[in-house]
Amino acid sequence: SSSLEDLVDLFDVRPSDAPRPDHEREAELASPKFGAVFTDHMARVSYTADRGWYDRRVEKYGPLQLDPATAVLHYAQEIFEGLKAYKHSDGSIWTFRPEQNAARFARSAARLALPALSVDDFIASLAALVRTDSAWVPTGEEASLYLRPFMFASEPFLGVRSSREVDYIVIASPVGPYFSGGVAPVSIWVERDFARAAAGGTGAAKCGGNYAASLLPQTQAQARGCDQVCFLDGTGTYLEELGGMNVFVVRADGSVETPELTGSILEGVTRSSIIQLLQDGGHEVRQRQIPLDELLAQIDDGTVTEVFACGTAAVVTPIGRLAGSNFDKSISDGAAGSLTMAIREELTGIQTGAVEDRHGWLRRL
Ligand code: PMP
Repeated sequence: SSSLEDLVDLFDVRPSDAPRPDHEREAELASPKFGAVFTDHMARVSYTADRGWYDRRVEKYGPLQLDPATAVLHYAQEIFEGLKAYKHSDGSIWTFRPEQNAARFARSAARLALPALSVDDFIASLAALVRTDSAWVPTGEEASLYLRPFMFASEPFLGVRSSREVDYIVIASPVGPYFSGGVAPVSIWVERDFARAAAGGTGAAKCGGNYAASLLPQTQAQARGCDQVCFLDGTGTYLEELGGMNVFVVRADGSVETPELTGSILEGVTRSSIIQLLQDGGHEVRQRQIPLDELLAQIDDGTVTEVFACGTAAVVTPIGRLAGSNFDKSISDGAAGSLTMAIREELTGIQTGAVEDRHGWLRRL
């Protein structure tokens, strides 16, 4: 296979005529607002059914001009990814298991009837953008550049069929530490009325529609005083995941459980990495369907001592409280659990270069 250098060279860099001056960029990096500030460029590749992928480029970040009939605006044929680039103390820039995101992107594309982008093109697009905008990668404890690759149906056509024109774009947004005042346990509303995904649906794909379906329950959960929603499976029996994070349950005997990948849960890169790190540390990890009723009973009788959520954005988030239509429970008095915090420390350590990367998860861009 070709080297990363050769693949990045396929991207034609067309520098912005109006990059932010140094002082403006530095002001943005000093207090980054997640997802609201973007770097000067975006990476982009076009596709048509006839030509395949073509015109690999890095161009000025800016608005897209879309025909009102563009298919994505009507039928939501769209997928995305999320991962971070970290600047280590020697100035080198790394991503964490990007080939996992590339593989998931390809699986999402297949489910949404979008064309596959190769793992090589995916990683090269990240490198091409990050190298162009390297000054935008923040330094400092738990700061990073969040990368958002996405692909959408760009053909102006109202027929309900898969689009013959597709756009792939990567944008990037600097982010500071998720928890600026120290890691704080969150409260979770366990949703029984609305499902996020059903058997045979798109739950295992990272497509925009899944997130659209989570917004109303999320808004209602916040009105009820909770931070986030945990969705159950389509039958309302088993734990699935939060709107943007997977979930883990720690037991008093040191074993750990997480919902198995039934097809309606997103396979998180953080989830897979935590399973590995826990197993490395001698913990038994079971992937199975976890009934909500069983979990609640085991919180009460002390069998379950910690619950946490995990994902790229917050890495590991302790869950201090679970509430639902007929229950409201603290877990370990609402404090962050010790295994939760240890796994968080280990994973962020690997990502930032402070802990040895024994699995070779980091990839230099
Ligand atoms: N579940 C959902 C629904 C998500 O959106 C995410 C974030 N991508 C996750 C889980 C966690 O995945 P990852 O660890 O790859 O960020």
